[in-house]
Amino acid sequence: MALPQKTLRDATSLLEAGLITAEALPALSALQSRYAVALTPEVQARITAPEDPVGRQYIPHADEALSQPHELADPTADAPFTPIKGVVHRYPDRALLKPLLACPVYCRFCFRREHVGPDGGLLNEAELEAALGWFAAHPAVGEVILTGGDPLMLSPRRLAHILGRLAALPHIHTLRIHSRVPVAEPSRITPELLAALRLETPLYLCVHANHAQEFGPAAGPALRALHGAGLVLLGQSVLLAGVNDSLAALEGLLRTMLAHRIKPYYLHALDAAPGTARFAVPDARALELLRSLRGRVSGLAWPVFVRETAGGAGKRPLGPAW
Ligand SMILES: *Cc1c(COP(=O)(O)O)cnc(C)c1O
Repeated sequence: MALPQKTLRDATSLLEAGLITAEALPALSALQSRYAVALTPEVQARITAPEDPVGRQYIPHADEALSQPHELADPTADAPFTPIKGVVHRYPDRALLKPLLACPVYCRFCFRREHVGPDGGLLNEAELEAALGWFAAHPAVGEVILTGGDPLMLSPRRLAHILGRLAALPHIHTLRIHSRVPVAEPSRITPELLAALRLETPLYLCVHANHAQEFGPAAGPALRALHGAGLVLLGQSVLLAGVNDSLAALEGLLRTMLAHRIKPYYLHALDAAPGTARFAVPDARALELLRSLRGRVSGLAWPVFVRETAGGAGKRPLGPAW
């Protein structure tokens, strides 16, 4: 079956594609100036109904305009740990580098969705040089984690430049990229991009996906090629009501990751970002799910269940414990 031609980026296009109703159009048109929308051709092809486990993640919803009292604009408290634009330094030995604030999909539950947009918010040359200079001046930071937005939305040339500069620093022993691209837009995994990712320094790629249904026919070859280029593939997911908060869905997701050579790394509890309440899973329910999963799947499939602590204390494992 041929893929749809283009990425859908506004409520009107979603209506034309039959993914929202005419009644929802005014509210969702108002919302799109606050939270960007993007459904890639690959993602559109994975959606069988607007409220299915893929549609629910990416199609905007009027409830996003409603904030709950406990929801925070910066739930992971990145701001106080930002020494210089594009860098987040919370732990002694590793720090984030955010070269680009654009994303292939703009998940409706992402805590960064308010700050990222289709224009990208690319660090300019001087800002990028300053960020790279910060890493050069901090020898205790041996691991750089490229996140965003999504670093695999960068041009291969720019990505090669950034990775090359970091890998050339003698104290950098580990590089890591967090990305939605291999599953949500595998057409971006081109030979040029693979060449940029082929490094001597160990490069870990943490692939974000939340349901087995997201993995389309092009994801397999893209992930195989990334593995073939020497990257270690890890999986990161968020536990989401109506997406993967069932034993069958979670088991299916973890097994699908293993089948693609992805080692599940973190399962995140939802960050309390504004307008995300419809995805919340109570902790008691989450722990019950994980207890019933234990023993059903290989230990290889087992992620660590964590929550980002408000106030910036970092990721805290939530259990279950026996
Ligand atoms: C999540 C995160 C990391 C990486 O933490 P790991 O537990 O090593 O995956 C590093 N820095 C910041 C600011 C983070 O939020």
